[in-house]
Amino acid sequence: LASRLAGIPPTVFSEMSALAVRTGAVNLGQGFPDVDGPSSVVEQAVRALREGANQYAPGIGVPALRQAVARHQQRHHGIELDPDTEVCVTTGATEGIAAALLGLLDPGDEVIVLEPSYDSYDAMIAMTGGVRRGVTLHAPDFRLDGDALRAAVTPRTRLVLLNSPHNPTGTVLTREELRLVADVAIEHDLLVVTDEVYEHLVFDGRSHVPLAGLPGMRERTLTLSSVGKSWSFTGWKVGWATGPARLVAAVLAAKQWLTFTSGSPLQPAVAYALDHEAEWPLELARDLQGRRDLLLEGLRSLGLSPRTSEGTYFTVTDVEHLGWEDGRAFSLGVAERAGVVPIPLQGFYSEDPAAGRHLVRWAFCKTPDVITEGIDRLSRADLAR
Ligand code: PMP
Ligand code: GLN
Repeated sequence: LASRLAGIPPTVFSEMSALAVRTGAVNLGQGFPDVDGPSSVVEQAVRALREGANQYAPGIGVPALRQAVARHQQRHHGIELDPDTEVCVTTGATEGIAAALLGLLDPGDEVIVLEPSYDSYDAMIAMTGGVRRGVTLHAPDFRLDGDALRAAVTPRTRLVLLNSPHNPTGTVLTREELRLVADVAIEHDLLVVTDEVYEHLVFDGRSHVPLAGLPGMRERTLTLSSVGKSWSFTGWKVGWATGPARLVAAVLAAKQWLTFTSGSPLQPAVAYALDHEAEWPLELARDLQGRRDLLLEGLRSLGLSPRTSEGTYFTVTDVEHLGWEDGRAFSLGVAERAGVVPIPLQGFYSEDPAAGRHLVRWAFCKTPDVITEGIDRLSRADLAR
């Protein structure tokens, strides 16, 4: 294995999903819904396949999707974009993250991430030769501390890789917290890459504030999102990067050598979803809020204290009082004892490993039956070490 990969552990999501399949466990780990998105959108994909959208799309993406993404950003966030220069289609937000970091970082450049951080950020920063600087969102409320953010900036800082709504904590950064990020970025002339794949999945009347919409931020912000979470098509891997032309061009400069272009037949279908199923993610969010509450109630009945997620698919619990040495041991233990798989969070920390050692993440993007079955199984097992 190449040295650039040797220090990076395999992704915990694949590991835990494989464990769930192998053991027949209820998978409350990896974040994917067990019901697909709108059938009207599937029909559009079938139609595109039949009608011959089967050869290479332009690298930047098909015009219909870029235009639909521009309309989406306008409609939901009031952000105006030129679909020809300020929107680029990616193979999921995952490729957006990879291409953005490859396109914008030089070896030795420092990147500030919120910790716990989604694992592909750390892997991609390492693969580009960048240096990760974590700013910890501390349990139990997982808020952003402006002083910690300022303290993470050095003369080598190139960009902030932000994520809100935040996986795995479920924090939705407030306008004030985003203002802290914006102030630091402007003061130190930093770029911000903001991963907003959960932009529509917010609860209790909250709204997601896109960083690019804050004063002074449009010119320095690259926004990433995708169809996966908002329209329940995680397997389609269609995403988009939006922002000023020079940042989108940096994404394209890397993307042309990663995938060259993204899959053609799914792009018109995703354009259709954005335009004609625009309300669908908002209904999903209302539905998810109910499933969040079902999972929270179940976890509380087991003596755990889950965080009331503000957004995303996830809640987090601390399992230290159950006597386990860490969240990983707990997760493997409950997979075996109860037949339920969560995700341990310690791999998502490196600045402050102690802060995440006993945290585990539970997904509620599952049908109520599956959540109830998971809780029933946990309630029949002995969860203490
Ligand atoms: N960022 C975050 C925070 C995620 O949770 C995920 C998983 N959906 C991704 C990026 C990857 O998105 P995609 O499946 O569109 O590549
Ligand atoms: N993003 C999802 C999660 O956090 C699925 C994992 C992945 O896409 N790598 O569980």
